[in-house]
Amino acid sequence: MKKKEATNRRGFIKKSVTGLMGAGFLSREGFSHPEEAATQDFPKIKSFRTLGRTGFKVSDIGTGDFDDPGPFRALLDAGVNYIDTSESYGQHGRKIGEVIKGRDRSSLFITSKLRANSSIRNIGKSGISKEGFIRRTNRVLKALGTDYLDCLMISSPETVEMLRCEGFHAATAQLKKEGKIRFVGVSHHGSQWITQPRESMEKVLTAAARDGRFDVMLLAYNFLKEDMSERILQVCKQENIGTTLMKTNPVRTYKYFQEVLEKHRYSKSRKLTEQEKEGLRRYKKKVENAQDFIKRYNLKSDKQIRDAAILFVLSNPNVHTVCTTVLNFDDASAYLKLSGKKLEPRDRSILSAYKKECGSLYCRHACGICEPRCPNKVPVNTIMRYDHYFASQGREKHAMIKYAALKSARADKCQNCPGYCESACPYGVPVQALLSSAHETLSLKNRRG
Ligand code: SF4
Ligand code: SF4
Repeated sequence: MKKKEATNRRGFIKKSVTGLMGAGFLSREGFSHPEEAATQDFPKIKSFRTLGRTGFKVSDIGTGDFDDPGPFRALLDAGVNYIDTSESYGQHGRKIGEVIKGRDRSSLFITSKLRANSSIRNIGKSGISKEGFIRRTNRVLKALGTDYLDCLMISSPETVEMLRCEGFHAATAQLKKEGKIRFVGVSHHGSQWITQPRESMEKVLTAAARDGRFDVMLLAYNFLKEDMSERILQVCKQENIGTTLMKTNPVRTYKYFQEVLEKHRYSKSRKLTEQEKEGLRRYKKKVENAQDFIKRYNLKSDKQIRDAAILFVLSNPNVHTVCTTVLNFDDASAYLKLSGKKLEPRDRSILSAYKKECGSLYCRHACGICEPRCPNKVPVNTIMRYDHYFASQGREKHAMIKYAALKSARADKCQNCPGYCESACPYGVPVQALLSSAHETLSLKNRRG
């Protein structure tokens, strides 16, 4: 490792460890000597799985999104070879391009995603024509600094009809002929409502699996959201489709629970409405259960559950790789240690107890069951996903930008609502309080930012 890089890496680790200790998430027995942690060898990838009909052997731990190129580079050096990217990454694609430059391109499986919704800003009707998709793919290739993508995915098609977008399929046929893409895929973390009703992730992805033109899928799956995703994974196995996962960790930080409970996230800026106070009371009961659970299992960090959650999805033989978001070297090291590891009985029992006692604090990705009940057409699942980016993944700026760009009604509507969506939720999520809180977090910080 070059001297300057090693110094930066030490500084980065020191900062992140200090931050975690300050938040009370990491015991002092952890990295008591950050410099030592910085210089130790990183763990390596120990397991590869065949990505369905592509035949490519992908590392069980994959990656894509990151804040700092250092930890991302460390992952690739350790053997991670599945890289998930998106057209929406913009400048971020260039950062990825810089890290992959000079590596053996054939050892990497690089994907990118394009939306096929003409109502999205900057896409329009011309963007979803054959020529539009080709133009957008060429832009992605240029940013990444590569001649080809291993897989080009249609991103979050909201309906089966959108999945069959003629422009996308005509473009992928031509791009394959030109050697610019090798395989075609689809990604989905769905919501049923943004500006109009959508179809469920299961309906869209099952149709994709049966369609015959899709070789790889990227979908949401975790231990609190099993049934729908496991059915999709089963169909993928039958059709020999490669499967990659996102949203594998549904667990929020303990700090987040407390912040919402103590009303720090919104009571300081204004007086709460009566509906909010009532929503908060419902929420409080759920958080008290969660806190009992944390004490009982003597959990020092939410990362203990995050790691077990990743092992849980990897224990499903129909899964080929998981896409991780790497914020720092601690994350990179922790993810690598999971490669090839089995889910232990203690992990399984913690997850099962968490599901029973704290599962109602998680708004299931790609659910949206309650959305038709909202008189204001608030896209519950989409806003909760943005809040998940903020609170669980630490991607605060990304979450705020997404919320600012939302065209639909926002969660300020929830402040004066008794929570019709909440009574329609089969998982008992205290969603009215969570949405009110999400609105304050995502928009207040945006104004400050
Ligand atoms: S609140 Fe419940 S029903 Fe609504 S999207 Fe979330 S998990 Fe689904
Ligand atoms: S709390 Fe009310 S306004 Fe907000 S999403 Fe639920 S039903 Fe809609």
